[in-house]
Amino acid sequence: MAMLLKGAPVAAHLSEKLEARAKAILEKGITPCLAIVRMGEKAGDLAYEHAAVSRCARLGIAVRIEALSESAEQSELLEAIKKINTDSSIHGCIIMRPLPAHIDEDYVCEALAPEKDVDCVTSQSLSRVFSGHGDGFYPCTAQACIEMLDYYGYDLSGARISVIGRSLVVGRPLSIMLQDRDATVTMCHSKTRNLYKACRNKEILIVAAGSPGVVRETFVNPEQTIIDVGINDDGMGGITGDVCFDRIEPLVAAITPVPGGVGSVTATILAEHVISAAERKHNI
Ligand code: NAD
Repeated sequence: MAMLLKGAPVAAHLSEKLEARAKAILEKGITPCLAIVRMGEKAGDLAYEHAAVSRCARLGIAVRIEALSESAEQSELLEAIKKINTDSSIHGCIIMRPLPAHIDEDYVCEALAPEKDVDCVTSQSLSRVFSGHGDGFYPCTAQACIEMLDYYGYDLSGARISVIGRSLVVGRPLSIMLQDRDATVTMCHSKTRNLYKACRNKEILIVAAGSPGVVRETFVNPEQTIIDVGINDDGMGGITGDVCFDRIEPLVAAITPVPGGVGSVTATILAEHVISAAERKHNI
């Protein structure tokens, strides 16, 4: 039976360190505030929102939710972001992605004020990930994966790791962050030939494809650790990962569950970024 790498102890460990910072800023009369921008009501978005709201509440962070209909015009979305940019009581903002197909996601993300970009959607923040310079925030989910591996004692230096998924939301920045920790990373995507060959001999396999069941039995080995980043609607109002847990768990050494894995850490990282943004704004 594989070791279950749950997110809750990682989140609790990170929150412990955060509580003192949250208390210090609240004592100065400043309430860190997060804005969440969402279009529609996808189960994955709602699950993330719920986790973010409850984590923020525990730390005294205020949350404002801008919920637009899935069919709202791009101009309406841009107007909501403009208000967030100019509202001095809001320190950080996340935009739930992917946005509906009629929205120009790159254009909308670029409209967010870089200092409020707590999830690395603007080119200014991305440039920090790829160049190592600047003071943008890392993408919360990518950072959550690394925090999980650190907490459970993995030595990333020299580790052979495959990442499935090359989006700018998770896979691509994560592969750079892992390389910054001296891991040897193989990036896989939907055009990778013989995907199983790129995965089966790796120590760690990180899956961020948004494609349930993408990992087959031939992709894994008994010494392997699997980090499942996927959050997909299960068709019954719940969520499921990219890895078929029941099929793959008996074949590997360790695995993250969905729900209860990376997603629960992501919300804590987000809270940490909001507190940092508030500290920066008020020179604390
Ligand atoms: P995306 O659709 O933007 O990118 C998916 C990537 O996976 C692409 O690079 C694509 O080439 C690759 N891919 C898709 N199907 C594949 C297949 N069958 N074989 C190989 N590669 C394949 O998705 P995203 O925004 O990066 O999100 C990925 C997943 O992570 C989604 O399920 C999303 O809901 C989830 N997610 C989770 C968290 C969290 O906190 N746990 C946060 C953000 C996203």
